[in-house]
Amino acid sequence: MTERTIAADVCVVGAGSGGIGAAITAARGGSKVVLVERDEWLGGTTTTSGVCVWQPAVCCSPLCKEIFRRAQATGRCVIGSARKMPGAEMAVKAVDPAAVYMYTMMRMPRWTHEYANGTVIGFSPEGYDELIREMLAETGNCQVLDRAVFTGVEVAEPRRVTEVIAQSGDVVYRIRAKQVIDCSGDVDVALAAGVETRCGEDPKDLYGEPGAPEVATGRLNGVTLMYRVAKRPGLERPDDCETYRGGVISSAADIAELPGGEFSVNNCFMMSGDDAHGMGLDKAYEILSRRVWLCWDGTQKRYGLDDYNITWIAPRLGLREGPRIVGRYVMTEHDFQVGMKGQEHEDIIAVASHAMDTHGQKSYCLDPLNGPYGIPFRCLQTKEFDNLLIACRGASFSHLAASAVRLQRTIIELGVAAGKAACGENPVPPAEHWDY
Ligand SMILES: Cc1cc2nc3c(=O)[nH]c(=O)nc-3n(C[C@H](O)[C@H](O)[C@H](O)COP(=O)(O)OP(=O)(O)OC[C@H]3O[C@@H](n4cnc5c(N)ncnc54)[C@H](O)[C@@H]3O)c2cc1C
Repeated sequence: MTERTIAADVCVVGAGSGGIGAAITAARGGSKVVLVERDEWLGGTTTTSGVCVWQPAVCCSPLCKEIFRRAQATGRCVIGSARKMPGAEMAVKAVDPAAVYMYTMMRMPRWTHEYANGTVIGFSPEGYDELIREMLAETGNCQVLDRAVFTGVEVAEPRRVTEVIAQSGDVVYRIRAKQVIDCSGDVDVALAAGVETRCGEDPKDLYGEPGAPEVATGRLNGVTLMYRVAKRPGLERPDDCETYRGGVISSAADIAELPGGEFSVNNCFMMSGDDAHGMGLDKAYEILSRRVWLCWDGTQKRYGLDDYNITWIAPRLGLREGPRIVGRYVMTEHDFQVGMKGQEHEDIIAVASHAMDTHGQKSYCLDPLNGPYGIPFRCLQTKEFDNLLIACRGASFSHLAASAVRLQRTIIELGVAAGKAACGENPVPPAEHWDY
């Protein structure tokens, strides 16, 4: 093993939605940033898990708009609206040349039976990775350590994380950064540092949420293995798919067109999150990599994609939920219910409008009846440390709130706020920023 020590202003762990928001923002703000990512692609769930679709959501982030504009100008994304293919029973989101970015921020009040809940942006995962690398390189301030796995932290000083440890091959990196931002999705840094976390449902008596169960279980939002289909010869179908008949085989899907005429398929109800974590994510991946073929058998005809074949299966499972920190403020269903008009927080750093939305055998979807709701900066702050922020789906949310705030553009906004704070800027935008 070789050890290398790197000094930085900011260390960001995880290059998913939160991580790219944090790294780009901190590096543009003049901080020397090190970005640690275990996978080959940057983008996390958006790329490696194949969820390369921005669902309709209110989003005031200029960074998201910039990513969209630059991706669109270089053919790396398209805008799609609901349309039925010939002979289809259900609608896909197909390229709509007349649609503009603004339409993608409007969600229909209720999901229709066709899941035609609005206008979406579909990215090529490869193109998204390339674009984010370009944007980071332009800052001249960000060192990307990809294929480097976070393995631990040192917390020698009181209330400070002093070192982030990551390994790539036989090189161990010791990153000494003034500020650390955990964007690992499953809050690996927070867990290693001993931050308080919760996982699964919360009981009603904890936060008094109307939608919470009296007795909480370990139930986690469902997992999905995403795949892409195209009008060309596809992957070889494994022999054991024909005989495999275990678990949930659902043909309900959210299907969006990507650049080049491919479609991304999200069979929303594939396996419960607790089953996947219970059996181990490798085993869950193995099961779902056969289940996708059976899901596709039903999906293909319903959505009128008869000439299409599976051409790519995401290399990682899409995880909607994992552990969440218990930070300086826990956002709950109450914030979601009253909306931004009723919230009194002075530190709102992101606004969202997605429904409380869980996937699995007991799926439900509840739209925010009082309009968009805000996310306070304190959800990113740990109680235990002054230089550790959490800017990913595992920030300080209840199980129910987490099911609402998890969309990619919202998580990018959390990253932007963390990146600003880490380089000494005020993360709270002025009132006129909220122009939705
Ligand atoms: C199946 C599915 C469908 C969805 N559909 C949509 C949709 O249509 N539209 C939408 O906007 N949102 C959708 N979402 C939600 C959204 O994609 C995610 O909530 C969001 O992308 C999460 O971003 P994140 O930064 O919190 O985590 P992630 O994207 O998971 O990023 C975490 C990053 O950290 C890295 N990492 C983790 N551990 C380590 C470690 N130990 N060392 C180094 N790196 C590490 C990971 O490789 C990853 O790159 C969907 C989610 C799923 C799972």
